[in-house]
Amino acid sequence: MLESKFLLIKCPRCRKPQIIFGKATLNVKCLKCNKLLVKTTGGKTKIKAEIKEVL
Ligand SMILES: [Zn+2]
Repeated sequence: MLESKFLLIKCPRCRKPQIIFGKATLNVKCLKCNKLLVKTTGGKTKIKAEIKEVL
């Protein structure tokens, strides 16, 4: 499902689009404003940004 796909997400703070891997193992921060977009805790991935598209 989502975990094995690439996702196009949009930063809720600066609205910069960014492509991430759904099964991220590391926290992902916005390249522009450094907001935490993807948080990983105990093997689970929480996406804290708006998902625009599943690629
Ligand atoms: Zn941002």
